[in-house]
Amino acid sequence: MKLGFDYDGVVADSSQLKASLAMELYGLHIPPDKFHFHILHKEGVLTTAQYAELTEMIYHRRPVAARMVPVWNAIKYIRLLLLDVSHSVTVITSRDPEASLIAEEWTLSQHVRPKLVGVGPGNSKAEVLAGFDVYVDDDVSKLASLVGVVRHLFLLSWPYNAHEDVSGIARRVASWDDLYEAIQALELEGSQQ
Ligand SMILES: [Mg+2]
Repeated sequence: MKLGFDYDGVVADSSQLKASLAMELYGLHIPPDKFHFHILHKEGVLTTAQYAELTEMIYHRRPVAARMVPVWNAIKYIRLLLLDVSHSVTVITSRDPEASLIAEEWTLSQHVRPKLVGVGPGNSKAEVLAGFDVYVDDDVSKLASLVGVVRHLFLLSWPYNAHEDVSGIARRVASWDDLYEAIQALELEGSQQ
């Protein structure tokens, strides 16, 4: 199967790094799994300028980017999926070219080598994902734009997206363990057809 994964919030736990930087730079204590800019901005916790500074550091400064930790079990399952010759594994990110390169370097530092494509901020992932069997994101709006493009869409659950309604768009998975199980079930379904 052709499998696609978002980078930030699916493969790499960027919220954890954002929360650490918010503490170091601004003395703000924000639980990592609640780190969602639109919510924090609405609550008056974080300014647009502060968020821009955080993301700039995470996306473009290698010593900061190197502090990124994987989403729990993401690397373990990407490694397993890459070992299965019946799958292709692609990470598709909205990062700009330089930040995409830094993301690719980070995945290599984790000893996995999925293909990584950066479409650039604000651009649709639909062209890259045409004909894919599976795509996983942590952002419902990204998934909504891919209905009819990718056969099976999944939302990786985080407290920051828990309020979103995914009906008619995607299937919610709580973890990479659940996701891997769902992918295996789809593979089995496909082989029985
Ligand atoms: Mg994301």
